[in-house]
Amino acid sequence: MNIILLGAPGSGKGTLSEFLCEKDNFTQLSTGDLFRENISNKTDLGIEAQKYMNDGNLVPDSVTNSMVENYLKTRSSELIFDGYPRTDDQAKSLDIMLKNLNNQIDKVIYLEINQDVLLGRLTGRMICKICKRSYHKINRKPLKEGICDFDGGQLITRPDDQENKIKTRLEAYHTQTAPLIEFYKSKIIKVDADKCSPEELYNRVKKVLGS
Ligand code: ADP
Repeated sequence: MNIILLGAPGSGKGTLSEFLCEKDNFTQLSTGDLFRENISNKTDLGIEAQKYMNDGNLVPDSVTNSMVENYLKTRSSELIFDGYPRTDDQAKSLDIMLKNLNNQIDKVIYLEINQDVLLGRLTGRMICKICKRSYHKINRKPLKEGICDFDGGQLITRPDDQENKIKTRLEAYHTQTAPLIEFYKSKIIKVDADKCSPEELYNRVKKVLGS
């Protein structure tokens, strides 16, 4: 089964992916993580993507789609798509790429969340430099300040988690990604992601997935 997690930045897609990968043997395909990896390895793709990510804008579809196409050569099932697709063009390309691999998207989980909650979540977020797990300065503190519980990696604030960049990212979500709710209407399952802990969200998702 392949699942897309659809939701605004800060709605909990990344944390939910962590749970689904650890407990249910899915593999996460996070385009944001792949871009960040390319940026730290200073690849041509990373240098190109950084121009857009730094300002909170979406990376062009052609760049993003070919990165995903390469990834899908290694694996195309039991995937959690986190942060992809984000545009109509990406959604249509993904359909074609998966079809060519005799695969498909089975379910789309839409994480519904109140806009006011998002800003607090994103400005307080910290991620592990090594494993990319996310923490929060108030709501999901690590056991030891600044250190990842899982692998001892340093926790950092993402450069695009600054208030002015968050605003641009939310705008990009509303104009370009939210219309995908309609695109996926036959596969979409809405889950209330408001005021709930990562564990609760995971339990809600498991329930709607019927597992
Ligand atoms: P968030 O969901 O919190 O915005 P991500 O790690 O998914 O975090 O994305 C961070 C940034 O990476 C985005 O703002 C965008 O610049 C880039 N990015 C990630 N996924 C895509 C995508 N599918 N298409 C275009 N740009 C993307």
